[in-house]
Amino acid sequence: MRIRLRGGRVLDPANGENAVARDVEFLDGRVVAATREKADAEYDLGGAIVMAGGIDLHSHIAGGKMNLARLLMQEDRRAYPEPALPQFSGSFCGCGGGRAVPTAHATGCRYAELGYTTVFEPAMLGSNARSAHLEMADIPNLDTGAYLVLGNDDFILRLIAAGAPQEEINAYVGWMLKATQAFAIKIVNPGGINAFKFNARSLNLDEANPHYPVTPRNVLTTLIRAVTELGVPHPIHLHGCNLGVPGNDETTLATIAATEGRRLHLTHLQFHSYGTEGDRRFSSSAARIAAMVNANPNISVDVGQVMFGQTVTASADYMAQYRNRGFASPKKSIGMDIELDAGCGVVPFEYRDKNFVNALQWAIGLELFLLVEDPWRIFLTTDHPNGGPFTTYPHLIRLLMDRDFRNAQLATLNKAAQAHTLLAQITREYSLEEIAILTRAAPARILGLTDKGHLAPGAVADIAVHDEDADREAMFSRARLVFKDGRLIVRDGEVVDLAPGTTHVVRTDFDSAIEGKLDAWFDQTVGLKAKHFAIADGELRGGRGPSVLNCVGGAS
Ligand SMILES: [Zn+2]
Repeated sequence: MRIRLRGGRVLDPANGENAVARDVEFLDGRVVAATREKADAEYDLGGAIVMAGGIDLHSHIAGGKMNLARLLMQEDRRAYPEPALPQFSGSFCGCGGGRAVPTAHATGCRYAELGYTTVFEPAMLGSNARSAHLEMADIPNLDTGAYLVLGNDDFILRLIAAGAPQEEINAYVGWMLKATQAFAIKIVNPGGINAFKFNARSLNLDEANPHYPVTPRNVLTTLIRAVTELGVPHPIHLHGCNLGVPGNDETTLATIAATEGRRLHLTHLQFHSYGTEGDRRFSSSAARIAAMVNANPNISVDVGQVMFGQTVTASADYMAQYRNRGFASPKKSIGMDIELDAGCGVVPFEYRDKNFVNALQWAIGLELFLLVEDPWRIFLTTDHPNGGPFTTYPHLIRLLMDRDFRNAQLATLNKAAQAHTLLAQITREYSLEEIAILTRAAPARILGLTDKGHLAPGAVADIAVHDEDADREAMFSRARLVFKDGRLIVRDGEVVDLAPGTTHVVRTDFDSAIEGKLDAWFDQTVGLKAKHFAIADGELRGGRGPSVLNCVGGAS
């Protein structure tokens, strides 16, 4: 099927095209060079902006904690029944909604309406992997993938404590990536979730776990080396120590220094950029942290912007969630252990604009966006749903692109918070091209997805068309057209079809001698045998299997 988009302006930063007037053509789901051949369908775009489909590299869309959050937050479904959603009127989304924790189906529909076609679940626990994959297969219109959480699992902590050779660690990581059908490695509070189980209530970068003689620094540097040597394209995706704790800025700076130039992705950096200045001992360290990020080209970050309103926080970091459970709104929460992998905490939360801490968190996130200089190393996230639902992205984009709008919002916030932020003095406004980098070109690059995030011949025909509008929130709220693998799924902001996505996984070489040890470990300690824990390709996407990215290992 040959489809031609005529009269649009192409915004493709990966190929240096900034609103270039040209046609875009695709054939059987792939972009091709423009031809004069008769097309099966043509769309006249009248100057609309044409971009690759959006890619969200960090959004909690599947897995055990999201299902717990849905169970806990039935208010969310009652507050946002499907027909009340602002963009809804088509017939493809009539199966329940929710906003903070939408259903799998609604997740696929809402993302598609915003022009997104690929989303990565950033915290899949090994023991939950099978259900996470089943759930991702249920999300229409999106390609997905998941980052496997390691670093609090007793197996790796034992290996590190015993001084196991790096090759053995690498073999374990390679086996786990394959067994759980994962795309990258995530670390959440390195070793801290495990330490919580031995009654620690905090764990700093160089503090030893109370049970294992292992520090967060040991866990981090060991796993950075593993993914580097295995050739996994995405660097370690780190939720660092001391999330949300005033004074964690020092930990974040020390963590960046600990990489010694190796690649590292710091996720939801906003929650890790807090100082202790002022009467309330809570202040912004965004300027210090951004300067360190700017000076270290090996570091990439996503922000985890706080957006005001009701949401629910869900994290493997039960050490942090235990600390925050008293702030739950409504007053209920869940905390649990997950096999020997990690933990899980679900705490409903309402970010309030008149609250000093919440207002300053909002400002800190925006300061980071505006002070980190390289748009290729910072990504647009709210850590959905932890900082706010992904459906707030259009509002966030306007905050970044429109200084007057930003300052008008700032002027309505808690007065003391206004006095503690530099935001009003920052003049930067993001350009459309920079937004396309943050949401398309840069995530594709850092994930190693060479046929996504751009519109050159050969690229996947995941394409979003937006009508130009000076109100950037309106512009990005409703895509005019969205194509998934060349198939029209959204027209005039409404889902008109459901396309099956794929699941992206990586495969690495590893020494299979690790399997004997893992068999014994699973038999002794885990509820499944290793061979049952491992997920076969045919279990993914209703038997269609994953899209495999084979990695080539190298020296560290
Ligand atoms: Zn997250």
